[in-house]
Amino acid sequence: MSSQGVALVTGAAQGIGRAIALRLAEDGFDVAVNDIASNSENLDTLVDEIQKKGRTSSKCIADVSQEEAVKDMVEQVVKDHGGLDVMVANAGIVGKNLSFVKVSGEEWDRVMNVNSKGTFLCYKYAGIQMIKQGRAGGRILGASSLAGKQGIGTQAAYCASKFAVRGLTQAAALEFGPHGITVNAYAPGAIDTPMIASEPGMRDAIINEFTQRSPLKHIGVAGDIASLVSFLAKKESQFITGQTISINGGVFFD
Ligand code: NAD
Repeated sequence: MSSQGVALVTGAAQGIGRAIALRLAEDGFDVAVNDIASNSENLDTLVDEIQKKGRTSSKCIADVSQEEAVKDMVEQVVKDHGGLDVMVANAGIVGKNLSFVKVSGEEWDRVMNVNSKGTFLCYKYAGIQMIKQGRAGGRILGASSLAGKQGIGTQAAYCASKFAVRGLTQAAALEFGPHGITVNAYAPGAIDTPMIASEPGMRDAIINEFTQRSPLKHIGVAGDIASLVSFLAKKESQFITGQTISINGGVFFD
């Protein structure tokens, strides 16, 4: 298959980002994959897997909350692959489960820096590059959440950070639309990834709660999100922009 273009997926070493990177490679994209240094080995494995699918791939270690790092990452992708057509700003962290009044300023900054500022920086430098290169059909995608549509009492900072992604997505869609670039976000419900197992007992509690709440009676897998992103990255999605699309097994209706 001839190349469909160049994609960059952040937070790709595991979970949803990994599934998206592999799916975009199957769709014919050359895929650069990003994560932080502590997840570097998993990125090496992923680069190998993408190359085995017959696509080019490269590893970009960068903390998406650092402006210079994001700028350099986009420049490196352009050097390695000749441009950037799809940016998937997927990297994110969950907050500590805390009562609203126990959330410290430091915890607020930690979560907002990665989830909101990191997404903003990825949108910004992807937009700059896509406008500069002047190819039609740029696609910018971000990770919101069910928690970006409806508050969760013990995740104040995380909820705020994911609501922010929706605002960023709308603002960027307005500015980049005249250049033929669409900007959308996905808002997953509970998806079985390392994130939902980051505290002891958390995975079982989430599976129980969301299995009950879903009319489909199961939680999601990373491939469910990759299927949506695969469509949003394609030319056929060209009339969708500024949207944050719920993908949550029906636990919440917009
Ligand atoms: P995950 O924790 O399994 O993977 C996230 C990846 O992001 C990790 O590889 C991590 O190392 C990387 N990362 C963290 N901070 C980073 C930084 N500063 N710079 C670059 N990379 C960084 O999580 P996941 O479940 O795959 O989630 C992916 C995205 O989807 C996140 O934005 C998350 O908030 C969102 N989301 C997940 C769920 C879910 O139930 N799993 C639900 C709603 C939204």
